[in-house]
Amino acid sequence: MRKRLTREEWHRRKRLKRTVLMTTVIILMIVIIVFSIYFISNILYGNFGSNNVGKEEIMVTLPNGTEIQNRFLTPNPYSRPQTQLKRINGVVIHYTANPGSTADNNRSYFEGLATKKTTSASSHYIIGLEGEILQCIPLNEVSYASNERNDDTIAIECCHMDETGIFNAETYASLVSLTAALCVEFDLKKKDIIRHYDITGKLCPLYFVEHEDAWEAFKEDVMLKVGLIKENAKG
Ligand SMILES: [Zn+2]
Repeated sequence: MRKRLTREEWHRRKRLKRTVLMTTVIILMIVIIVFSIYFISNILYGNFGSNNVGKEEIMVTLPNGTEIQNRFLTPNPYSRPQTQLKRINGVVIHYTANPGSTADNNRSYFEGLATKKTTSASSHYIIGLEGEILQCIPLNEVSYASNERNDDTIAIECCHMDETGIFNAETYASLVSLTAALCVEFDLKKKDIIRHYDITGKLCPLYFVEHEDAWEAFKEDVMLKVGLIKENAKG
């Protein structure tokens, strides 16, 4: 037989129901507000589904133990227009096509375009003949290196000793480390590592265009390094 509720008990249960209902409504409202803020901010900043957290630089441990040198170009319309890079969908590999020139020479060339006012060119990174890496453009700004892919890729320019465009061991090792670190940072896959050649058909980087096997081996080396970085991160 069902027990008859006292008046007091009836009121108590009613209060309890009301409290539960109110709490549920408040939680739902908080969830809706948080999601709305997330969606609206993503739409406003135009980076919906983007992997770019707006970082200017990333830390990379290079084979020769040195660090990436921050050598940002002076903002100017010809090499550092400060256009926001809204998403990063790939890394583009280039060669300088200027045998024997150093990373510093190539950075000076980019910097000098500001006063020449005739050509537009730049690259996020330049890797030198001793494996040194100069960063010329922050990762949240576009560089002028990869034509129609300037607005969604990071560019790496590599120095080389001779006309064949082959990278020496130091340059190559730094290129593998840097590309791998970028793949980890921006969640990029093997297919996202491309040559300038893959965008425009330009013979750049020459050695990797003329030696498809070396290009494939390079991407394999990068993926191995990506695996190592992720393994180390797990501790
Ligand atoms: Zn190129």
